[in-house]
Amino acid sequence: MVAVETALGPIDPSQLGFTLSHEHVMTSAGEDTKHYPWMFDRERSLERAISSLREVKQAGVDTMIDLTTPDLGRDVKFIQEVSRAAGIQVVVATGIWLDPPRSFLTRSVAASADIFVREIEEGIDNTSIKAGVIKVATDVAGITPVHENVLRAAGRAAARTGRPISSHHHAEAEQGRDQLRILLEEGTPVDRICIGHSADTTDVDYLLLLLDQGVWLSMDRYPGRPGRPNWQQRNATVKALVDRGWAHRIMLGHDFGATRPVPAGMTEPPADDYNPDGLLFLSRIGLPALISSGVSSTDVDLMMREVPRRFLTGE
Ligand SMILES: [Zn+2]
Repeated sequence: MVAVETALGPIDPSQLGFTLSHEHVMTSAGEDTKHYPWMFDRERSLERAISSLREVKQAGVDTMIDLTTPDLGRDVKFIQEVSRAAGIQVVVATGIWLDPPRSFLTRSVAASADIFVREIEEGIDNTSIKAGVIKVATDVAGITPVHENVLRAAGRAAARTGRPISSHHHAEAEQGRDQLRILLEEGTPVDRICIGHSADTTDVDYLLLLLDQGVWLSMDRYPGRPGRPNWQQRNATVKALVDRGWAHRIMLGHDFGATRPVPAGMTEPPADDYNPDGLLFLSRIGLPALISSGVSSTDVDLMMREVPRRFLTGE
């Protein structure tokens, strides 16, 4: 059995339990926390993340897949400390989000793939914390040359290591098609690919087209925000896919941070008006409503437990 890498080291996949597909221990301030550390209170941010995730763990969430990349201010030592203190398992990511460093334009795709492979096989920064997943991202700007380089490097790293890819995609523009095409061109096995933020569209036909090709879908960003589908629409899309027999390829999440960086001199991070339930929205509201609408609890268990395990292990 393939072990799953977490911030606290490898674990047996049977230990994953209830797993959120796309989250963050700390919401991004880009790279500000790294370059302008005086602007933030790291200790308070740590305390906030720990107390929040303790509650999340006590409410039954065992694992979160943290898709924070270097350009989102990834800090694996912060995540490790939070994970240990809160008792929640965190899978951390290699890869790059929407703001690739300039070097990804000038360096060869092969050399960028080597970076991702190193973070998978040896560790991130100067730690032995290994990436369990590879993040890629494209959005309204389209698939620009630098984003394409990152996609191709991620595709090669997935092909070499068997680690899965989880994407951020602009669902309205149906970019999943192009992400998939590019990754397949680089030799990524289709079952190592998850197209994420897929609940940002209510176009079931588009999602079925992706599923038919063999990918996983992350139906995340619950409970939605103004200008995007609300949680009821997200649930309706999930139910439509489950009714067509696709529960075995779907994962759910919030794309939410357990804390935001606490600004220096403040005691609390800025609140989030749109999701007061945070990482417990699905447990408290989304999943019970899905079950009330007729989705079986067996299928909910499949999406929250089995699918993330199969996605992470490839088994
Ligand atoms: Zn995210």
